[in-house]
Formats: sequence, C-alpha cells, structure tokens
Amino acid sequence: MEKIYLDNAATTPISSEVLNEMMPYLTTNFGNPNSIHSFGRGAKAGIDKARLRVAHALGCNPDEVFFTSGATESNNWFIREYAHSNSKKGKHIITTKIEHPSVIEPCKKLEQEGYKVTYLDVDQFGLVKIEQLLDCISADTILIAVMTANNEVGTIQNVQAISNIADEHGIAFFTDATQAVGAININMKEMGIEALSFSGHKINGPKGVGVLCIQKGVKIASFMLGGEQESGMRAGTSNVAGIVGLGKAVELACRDVAVNSKKLREMRDYLIRNIKEKIDVVKLNGHPKQRLPNNVNMSFGMIDGESLTCLLDTCGIAVSTGSACSSGLTSPSHVLQAMGLSQDFVKGAVRFSLGVGVTKTELDYVIAKLVECVNKLRKISPKTKKE
Ligand code: PMP
Repeated sequence: MEKIYLDNAATTPISSEVLNEMMPYLTTNFGNPNSIHSFGRGAKAGIDKARLRVAHALGCNPDEVFFTSGATESNNWFIREYAHSNSKKGKHIITTKIEHPSVIEPCKKLEQEGYKVTYLDVDQFGLVKIEQLLDCISADTILIAVMTANNEVGTIQNVQAISNIADEHGIAFFTDATQAVGAININMKEMGIEALSFSGHKINGPKGVGVLCIQKGVKIASFMLGGEQESGMRAGTSNVAGIVGLGKAVELACRDVAVNSKKLREMRDYLIRNIKEKIDVVKLNGHPKQRLPNNVNMSFGMIDGESLTCLLDTCGIAVSTGSACSSGLTSPSHVLQAMGLSQDFVKGAVRFSLGVGVTKTELDYVIAKLVECVNKLRKISPKTKKE
C-alpha cells in the first residue's frame, strides 16, 4: 500500500543534509561543549555555528539566540519569565484565543498569580481584530503575544501591524513562529519583534530542540537554573547534535522559502480545488489567501473528523484532526470554536499539511480515497442536516 504523509504541521522527517551535519556530533565529536579540552571545543564550535545560522536566518544577533528543548519550553519561558521580570511596569498581557496551549496555559497560570490576561477574539478566518487589540491596551499592558501563523488552520497574522502597535505603545511583542519559520520570511530586527520561538522538528530538523530569540534590552530571567550554559540563561548540558541539526535546518528552510512556498502553494490550491469540486458540504477553514503554503484545513459536514482520519490511515494516508500536537485530546478545537464554526463543522475538521516533496499523483490518490471515505462515512452517519 502506498503511504502518504500529510501531517507536516505535526512534525517533519529529518532531511539528509541535516542528518549528515548532525552525525559527527553523535559519534566522534561527542564532547561536552563546556569542557575546555579539544573534544569540548569541537562540540562548542558546532553550537556556535548553529547560533550564527539562526541569527542570520531570523535577523537577530547570535547572542540573542537561546537554544531550548522546543517551542513549548521557549513559549513557557518567555511568557512566564517576561511577566515576572516586568511586573513592576504592569501586570496586563494580551494574547489570542487561538494560541498554542504552550502559550495559553502559562497565561492561565499567570492569571492565578494575579496578572490580567486578555485573550483576543479572531474573525471567521482566524485573524486577530486590530481594533480590539487597540481597545484593550492600557498603561498596565506589558506584553502582546500573538502567533505568526496558526498550527491548525494556517492563518498568517498581520504580524507587522501588530508589532507596530506594540512598538507605538512601548509594549514588548512576542510571536510563536513555530509554524511560520521556513514558510514566510521573518526578520526580527526589521519587523520590530522583541522575542520569537520555534522548534527544529517542524522544518526537517530534529525533535527536542528549539529556539527562543530575545532581543537585547528585553528584561527576562532564566527559566532553567543550575548551570552557565546559554550565557547562564538556560542551564543544562546542551543537546549538541540537536542544536547543530536545527542550525542546518533553519539555514536550508530560510534559504529555500521562496521556491518551497511557491511549489507548496500550487499543491495546496490543487488539493483545495479538487476537494471542493468532488465533495459537497465542505468548508475551507482559515484564511483563503493569507495562509501557510502547506495548510489545508477542511471541514466535512455530517461526519466526524476523527473517523475520517482513522479511515484515511487504513488507506495509508496520514492526516490529523484539529491540532495533531494535542491529539489524544478529544475536546473540540479551541481554534475552530474561536472562529465561530458550527459544532458540525468543528467536529468534521481534518488538517492536511503538505511536505515539499508531495506530488500531484499522490494528491490524486488522496482525493480519490477521500471521496470514497467521506461517502462511506456519510452513508452510516446519523446526521442528515446539511449546512
Ligand atoms: N507552537 C506551535 C504553533 C506549534 O505548532 C507547536 C507544535 N505543534 C508548538 C508551539 C510546540 O512545539 P514543540 O512540541 O516542538 O515544543
């Protein structure tokens, strides 16, 4: 049976170039980067190179790049420690209803500690309403945290406009760019982004390694204590091979943004067009144009997204319902609910996230199987109501 992987927003395979770069650091170049001997210096050189690559790709300085265990840690670190370090200035944080749980949960924790958090609404396409953002800024606001692109529906926010507003009001702007790095161009200095997070495994790099970039001048305490690694900001022996792999992955992803996104956009639109033509009662979720080049989030009326995902899996096709990162959770997607979808369409949502290598032949197979599976499920569905 053919196997087709369309769950690249959940994770991606490590590319051969990245793996080649990592291999020496898993074998001969195994030193502890903090050791002063040649083994240690060899490992440290790998980390230094990766730091330069991240800085170059994202428009910040190397000493503003901190390696973490992934975007979850980066998000937790920034939200909590920025709030704690700046509580004398104010205790109000603005974020959105559609952030990843690794942003929402630390915000909830801060609320328990006495901070005030505003969770901005989004419109039907998943875009933050700028007027609402302007309305809720107060003298107490210290942070605006809005993701660059949403992991479920792929909507790309008006990051520059939001960053400008933060700047005009003297408020720090933090963006979770986990889904956006490698999909769109990002330059922290040019765009006025004070802090940014992402993970290696979303860009054909390794899992368990991520980045938090923090511009100089931003007041923030360390999150992990007990060592001088990462300039004393993140204790613990570094994941050297992971960091080296992430560095290479980010270099390649940002170098190839234009070519890859053009190709992916073509494939994405081909899939959307065919689903709409061949299946009735479907809805594209997210913004029709301002969306990640590889994201197709579709609701299929009168069926369960989870059943469809399982049935497609039996055909060798890997997709996900809602957000794969929180799979295991069967609660309805907070993102689709915030966008105002009906319960039927919330339940019937499936995310196809394409990889650069995907072909039209593969998509034709997916479309044919999708038609079969949807028909099969609708035949046995108790729901008859059409939307
Ligand atoms: N933010 C976003 C937008 C994500 O998509 C993810 C992963 N799905 C994360 C944060 C967390 O990344 P990780 O699991 O690699 O820590």
